[in-house]
Amino acid sequence: MILFLDFDGVLHPEGEDHTLTGGVDFCFLPRLEALLREFPHVKIVISSSWREQLLYKTLLKPFSSDIRARILGATPHSGFGLPPPYGKREGEILAWLQIHDAVDESWVALDDAYWQFGHYKDHLVTCGSFTGFDDKASAELRARFEEVSR
Ligand SMILES: [Mg+2]
Repeated sequence: MILFLDFDGVLHPEGEDHTLTGGVDFCFLPRLEALLREFPHVKIVISSSWREQLLYKTLLKPFSSDIRARILGATPHSGFGLPPPYGKREGEILAWLQIHDAVDESWVALDDAYWQFGHYKDHLVTCGSFTGFDDKASAELRARFEEVSR
């Protein structure tokens, strides 16, 4: 299973310019990493817009080394540009899956931008932009991981 991971509004609440601070807080990353350690079959692809501004190696810095080793890459900057009901981020995810011959792979997107998803909304676990990866989102993501490991 692949987790497409957004940063702002997920790993920390949206609202401050975390890119400029180098993302020093990433306050919810430890919670996500703890969950990921329970599901070692889950790989990670970064879908955050940070990938448009930072070097790939910089994107990886906030992660613990064991989790970092499970990150496969980042989605392409411009996806398929599919028409509605496809969302922009969704198109980038679909492009990544196609490029990596992984269209049959199960996947879930952890994101606060639900409007970036249309056709594949059922693959989305939504965080509240100002709450981030809270207990509710964590429980929902765990359920998705468990579905696939069963
Ligand atoms: Mg976001």
